[in-house]
Amino acid sequence: MTRVPAIRVFQQPASRLALPRAGGAILLLTALAACVPGSRPPGAGVPLVVIVIVDQLGSGMLEAIQPQLAGGFARFLDDGLRFPQCEHDHASSVTGPGHATLATGMHPSRHGIIWNEWHDRARRKDVSSPSAPQEDSTANFDGSAAVTGGYMQGETLGDLLKRADPNSQVFAVSLKDRSAALSAGRHADGVFWFNARSGGFTSNPALMPRLPGWGREFWEGDPFEMSFAGVRLPRAWAYPIRPGARPDDDPFESDALSRVSPHPIASARALRASPWADWLTLMLARQIMASGHLGADAHTDLLVIALSATDYIGHEYGPGSQEHLDQLMRLDGWLEELMEAADAAAAGGGGRAIFALASDHGVLPLPERVAGGRRIDEGDLERRLRAAAVRALGEGDWIQAIVGPHLYLDHGKLEQAGISIAAAARRVRDEIARLADVARVYDAADLATQVPGDEHQRLQRNAWRPDRGGDLVIQECELCLLTDDPTGTSHGTVYAYDRRVPLIIMGERIAAGESAQPCRTVDLAPTLAAVLALPRFESPRDGRALTLRGVDTPDQPK
Ligand SMILES: [Zn+2]
Repeated sequence: MTRVPAIRVFQQPASRLALPRAGGAILLLTALAACVPGSRPPGAGVPLVVIVIVDQLGSGMLEAIQPQLAGGFARFLDDGLRFPQCEHDHASSVTGPGHATLATGMHPSRHGIIWNEWHDRARRKDVSSPSAPQEDSTANFDGSAAVTGGYMQGETLGDLLKRADPNSQVFAVSLKDRSAALSAGRHADGVFWFNARSGGFTSNPALMPRLPGWGREFWEGDPFEMSFAGVRLPRAWAYPIRPGARPDDDPFESDALSRVSPHPIASARALRASPWADWLTLMLARQIMASGHLGADAHTDLLVIALSATDYIGHEYGPGSQEHLDQLMRLDGWLEELMEAADAAAAGGGGRAIFALASDHGVLPLPERVAGGRRIDEGDLERRLRAAAVRALGEGDWIQAIVGPHLYLDHGKLEQAGISIAAAARRVRDEIARLADVARVYDAADLATQVPGDEHQRLQRNAWRPDRGGDLVIQECELCLLTDDPTGTSHGTVYAYDRRVPLIIMGERIAAGESAQPCRTVDLAPTLAAVLALPRFESPRDGRALTLRGVDTPDQPK
């Protein structure tokens, strides 16, 4: 058995703070800010805001293991204001749209990140959501293709903070490029993500002029050779078998990296599907806090930490697996250390940190392990979609691209054939609607106006726009996993298991407990903007400031 590091790997802060539990009188920070002398910077006296986004943390996952949690997650559950069934108010329950929505408080139809990729008709090529809009954009510092998040439109919370107070610092860090680049905004001070090919973290000159000297080992080092507080990354992931999760060996788990403990970590790529992907990300987050002196003065700093390992592990083994449970248990411990460091940093700035916990989407359990679940062969469905287009329009290769749920007809060919795009889309739509495994299919006309009471149509509409979306949007059946893989699982649908996530906000004067208030993930950015008493966003938001336990948040960011 490979020996693995103990969960607690970071050294304690020099003087550990004994923080009193939140609770008692409910005071609105913004009301407090009104009493603050005009000489103080914006931010309501909060030195540091830390947003933790756990990729693929479905609603109820933490509560299910709450008795076993004792670290950072436990602190969120005990001391935070919880919105346990918050919803992504859009159908595209994947990483890019989820992070961009949390950052901006707008729907994908407005921030423009409609899916992780989409198809550019004119250039006849797919576009990756975090990439740079210009072909001639400068490569990342490690030479990889440019990532700037430049396709995202609208002001982020970080951008608003920088506009209100240029002395505020804004950083985002993640294993995934899209999760970092779509969390920060145009005016961030630093944005970092991991390149599994090089084994280092990197960024892009459009996001920051150069990689800081203090993080050289993160940019250039071999992650397996790095050590932090004397601990190195292990070359295998071993864990104890715990009650409350499925047996370790399940034939529907991926066996690419073994189905049972210990899982080899033979490469930086394999590292992604192990808890140490998050450990590494949190190490860099700690380094950013320390070297950037975050929280050290009255200017509010923002750090967004997007943790990707739960997603990679969930895809391979599914929620409820021993792997998934072990991941959350380890993350619980590491998060506590991160939060203690943030508390200490904020104390240096004369205040308390605000923490938020959110997720970009949920997930379907392994379909074989959920009643009514099943796999649908993705290649076979694509063949059936193409045949449906031929039945609707006659012989021809009418489909230019299929990206996620988006089907793009070939407008040039339709024009040559003298068929209007709208008429073609309607005819293909009606054929596809007859196919097995397809719950619904929408064309542009279906998404043009809101149909009262049609919830799925509304959620699809929030996730689509004419310049990036397909001519048709296909919605698979509920509990159906569209995949070419006989193992593992995924997400991306309009259904509750993919859209529902926890949202927890915690800080001084924010009373702990569970809120029954309806919550959407578009509400996070406006809520934090209200808590920090920031000025209005540059344009109206789709989200609104949530009420913090019985007290109306101000008539502010809209
Ligand atoms: Zn994700």
